[in-house]
Amino acid sequence: MTKITIVMYHYVRDLKNSPYPEIKGLDVNLFNEQLRYILNYYTVIRMEDLIDAVINKKNIPNNSLLLTFDDAYKDHFDFVFPILQELNIQGSFFPPARAVQEHTVLDVNKIHFVLASVPAKEPIISDIFSMMNGYRKEFSLPSNESYHQKLEEEECRYDTKEVVFIKRMLQKELPEKLRNIIVDFLFHKYVTSDERSFSRELYLNHDQLKAMKRRGMYIGSHGFDHYWLNTLPKDRQEREVEKSLAFLKIIGCDTKNFVFCYPYGAFNDSLLSILSEKGCSLGLTTQVGIADLQKNHSLVLPRLDTNDLPKNRSAPPHQWTLQMISPNL
Ligand SMILES: [Zn+2]
Repeated sequence: MTKITIVMYHYVRDLKNSPYPEIKGLDVNLFNEQLRYILNYYTVIRMEDLIDAVINKKNIPNNSLLLTFDDAYKDHFDFVFPILQELNIQGSFFPPARAVQEHTVLDVNKIHFVLASVPAKEPIISDIFSMMNGYRKEFSLPSNESYHQKLEEEECRYDTKEVVFIKRMLQKELPEKLRNIIVDFLFHKYVTSDERSFSRELYLNHDQLKAMKRRGMYIGSHGFDHYWLNTLPKDRQEREVEKSLAFLKIIGCDTKNFVFCYPYGAFNDSLLSILSEKGCSLGLTTQVGIADLQKNHSLVLPRLDTNDLPKNRSAPPHQWTLQMISPNL
């Protein structure tokens, strides 16, 4: 068999008892239900088995599935790790190295917590536009209206238009320096002015990562700065990869046959060639689909999102599951 379902998770938490119940996360009970569903239909394999299969061109078990967790949230230690241990299955975790090492909060996470702290999104949008007015000259920004029009047609699988708009503006659309300024302003205004403490609460620390590694979990690279790596020149891409590998070494990971999980799923040819040179065995994207080792480049493997599979232990096999079992359906 050469097909494998790779499932991607981000926040997994006890939403009801969390200080941010609005955060777009997977409730731990539903996570548990989904794992039971998965165990009904799939064989959960270890990352090392998949690496071995790719390097040595070996087959993997029928209905193989791999569990992956992006961004190394403390949730993963508190809620995910104990359940995986109890069920005796492996998860693969991808920490954003800089945030863990320097106790910063990723802009993408700041945006999540701003959104989770403000029920109606209009005040955030009007804050963004008024900040843009203040910085229009310095950054030679086009009119607010032109941004609005450009992004009005955005569609996304899970978010409302307002949320998509805010995320696009603050993650990609505006100049990077201005994005940082606006995101910091919003984070301080709506969430907290103590970024370091917030970071320690949000992400796994070295000791937790080491403990998870010791007990059989897999830790891979998720870059250093959590950039859209396809937008960087080759030398900066190279530094990103090297710094993330230096971080993995500290945790005690094998950096010879490492796995790279692209932040935002973003990669390009020059990044792929850097990764091959450095001995990367697998690359995980956010393209939606079932991976096929025969068809997909091993550095460009698609994944399913947790929302693509049922979160109910007694659910009948879903479309994505049927595709693994009987490819002609
Ligand atoms: Zn990420």
